[in-house]
Amino acid sequence: METMDSMDTYTLPDLPYDYAALEPHISARIMELHHDKHHAGYVKQANATLERLEQLRSDGGGDAMLLRALEKSLAFNVSGHLLHSALWPSMRPGGGELEGELAAAVDDAFGTFDAMRRQLTEAVSSLQGSGWAALVWEPLAGRLIVEQIYDHQGNMTPANVPLLVIDGWEHAYYLQYANEKDRYIEAFFEVADWGQAARRFEQTRRLPAFADITARGAVRP
Ligand code: MN
Repeated sequence: METMDSMDTYTLPDLPYDYAALEPHISARIMELHHDKHHAGYVKQANATLERLEQLRSDGGGDAMLLRALEKSLAFNVSGHLLHSALWPSMRPGGGELEGELAAAVDDAFGTFDAMRRQLTEAVSSLQGSGWAALVWEPLAGRLIVEQIYDHQGNMTPANVPLLVIDGWEHAYYLQYANEKDRYIEAFFEVADWGQAARRFEQTRRLPAFADITARGAVRP
């Protein structure tokens, strides 16, 4: 890593609870594999890709096919790292209640909490292949949105901030629920921490993301 010693590399965060903490809804074995193997793998590959990009620059940077492959690898693995880092605090034993500014914003944007939850459910259950559903804050218009994300990085908008994410990859549920993905989604909502989403929302809204663009009238006031 000597070429990158002045910069940070990606690191695997600890789970904020024990592997078994979300049982019976999410099994300890799933949590252990999901965190220690899958999430760790994205972190490892993200750092390895940065090293390969550094090497490509050192070699003159002329290999377009390799560059394209590495750029895709970087987006996939860094996005995977970010989404899994957002997933662990999206869950907690016993779940957590929606409250504060986010509760009011959800009613404004979706009508009711249940309507938003139905859209999240539909977004994760109707994925074709691997992906995620997320309740996100879209800073340009200042809106809450439900995103359906393909793989880790497709079908999403830059700068959107995930508040609560659901992993729809088979590795998130298949050991426990096999093909009954709907049962997994119901189980996820038993442990979903809406209180954490509310706290993230209040922090996020204070960030000046895209303030320079919105100030130039990119959206209607
Ligand atoms: Mn996953």
